[in-house]
Amino acid sequence: MADSKLHSKFSSLFIFSFGIFLIFFSIQPLFSDESKLSAKQNKILKETFAYLETLEPKRIKIDKTTYNRHSQFESFFKFSFSGKKLSRWIQSRSKKYTFGSTGDYVAMYQDGEILLGRGFFSLNRLDRVLVLLHEARHADGKNYSHVVCPDDFPYLNTRDWKIHPAGKKGCDSVPDGGYGITASFLFELGAYGFLSQSDAAYRYNSEISRVIRD
Ligand SMILES: [Zn+2]
Repeated sequence: MADSKLHSKFSSLFIFSFGIFLIFFSIQPLFSDESKLSAKQNKILKETFAYLETLEPKRIKIDKTTYNRHSQFESFFKFSFSGKKLSRWIQSRSKKYTFGSTGDYVAMYQDGEILLGRGFFSLNRLDRVLVLLHEARHADGKNYSHVVCPDDFPYLNTRDWKIHPAGKKGCDSVPDGGYGITASFLFELGAYGFLSQSDAAYRYNSEISRVIRD
């Protein structure tokens, strides 16, 4: 008697939990396939910020006239170049990071969180910083939404040649959008000697190519 009572208590508990389980897993995919970052992904994200925070300027390695002519970092960010400050700037704009499918993009910004695609985790640390910096700019609102790149947009995507920006919403019409700020960051990396001039220039040119004037 006691046994069967216990048994029926257990079965109803089991049916109840199984029901909850079914509801949870059948509803969730309707919303998205986002998930929390795995421990390994979290580690990669942490290393990305740690790398950025090592980029503290010492001496400018290029001539002052060239620096003054091209440096836009301070006018965009309202503080002088500092990896530590830039790390805080990004983290104040994106409190949450999730993993999920991002289609043609490496990452996406939505409602205060950055959705990272599989490709993000196989990028090198500098490219990961560029992606986070770009996405964090989207937190600043519609002013920084992308515009459609011209149909004859001739430039290659440096991260993935299969991504063709022509005719897609992958350009900026403002100088300080996601692409303009990553360009300004790369310029400082070249100016302070964190990248060679040729690496900095090719990366800078690639980002700035997305800034178009209507
Ligand atoms: Zn973007």
